[in-house]
Amino acid sequence: MSKLFKLTLAAGAALLAVGAQAQAFPAPGKSITLIVPFAAGGPTDKVARDLAEALRKPLGGATVVVDNAAGAGSTIGTAKAFRAPADGYTLLVTHVGMATTPTLYRNPGYKYDEFEYLGLINEVPMVVVAKPTLAANSWAELNGWITQNKSKVNMAHAGLGSASHLCGLMLQSALKTELTTVPYKGTAPAMTDLIGGQVDFMCDQTTNTTSQVEGKKIKAYAMSTAKRITTPAVYKDLPTLDEVGLKDFNVSIWHGLYAPKGTPAAVVKTLNDALKAALKDPDFIKKEEGLGAVVVTDGRTNPAEHKKFVASEVAKWGAVIKAAGQYAD
Ligand code: ASP
Repeated sequence: MSKLFKLTLAAGAALLAVGAQAQAFPAPGKSITLIVPFAAGGPTDKVARDLAEALRKPLGGATVVVDNAAGAGSTIGTAKAFRAPADGYTLLVTHVGMATTPTLYRNPGYKYDEFEYLGLINEVPMVVVAKPTLAANSWAELNGWITQNKSKVNMAHAGLGSASHLCGLMLQSALKTELTTVPYKGTAPAMTDLIGGQVDFMCDQTTNTTSQVEGKKIKAYAMSTAKRITTPAVYKDLPTLDEVGLKDFNVSIWHGLYAPKGTPAAVVKTLNDALKAALKDPDFIKKEEGLGAVVVTDGRTNPAEHKKFVASEVAKWGAVIKAAGQYAD
């Protein structure tokens, strides 16, 4: 064999190896895990499971599964994802907690800006809901009952830093009252207790409340967004919190996708491309939008844009949390 031929063969083999490496994600037979830092059945779990299904096709048929690592207002699961191998096979689906926990916890077990940001997924309105046996039938009546009963009122939430906690903090500040707060590992178990009347009320994403409101298992009072929402139709007559007097109340809960820091750039690109494809999947859009979520398709699905957005959210919610007097000093 001539020297030149041998060299050509070696170069060809090296090129093939590089090509195989670049195309090897996800490797055949390897599954991808989405860590969800809240209990199964709640809003974060819901979007992660819908996304897991929608990611399958753009990731070449790979199996995508969900691992619920719930507790401590999302910090347990987020820390688990932070420590996971940076190979693209363990990812994190979380929400605004990524931006609230840096202010609330001295050491949550991760640094919010040391993940590989893969992109924003959706935005979901919240709604104030109460146990079915509560006499109040309007925001005014609910407000009157809260003002009268103050700390006797039990408000459920999904832990310090969760969306329900944040919304509850804002409500307490606006109503100038301190309630008894009851933390859960997610709003799915909180919902079970709300239906059963063990807690009085909470604020939660419409992706968890809609079927319960439709089935009259809980009562709904007001929306957290700046404008009223018409889909799902069950909310169309509800006022916004801003309208009922909580001026400028405007909360919409976003969810995003993240990988551990150090995940190879090519894998980050593959995952971001897959995310963008999943967000255009008509089945995914139908499932999400049917429950009031808005699937994001703008520039915020780009890693750099999403990172900038989260940094702005850390500043925004940090100020709100500090104003409410609840922060790790
Ligand atoms: N909705 C929850 C929250 O209040 C979290 C969850 O269970 O997804 O943050």
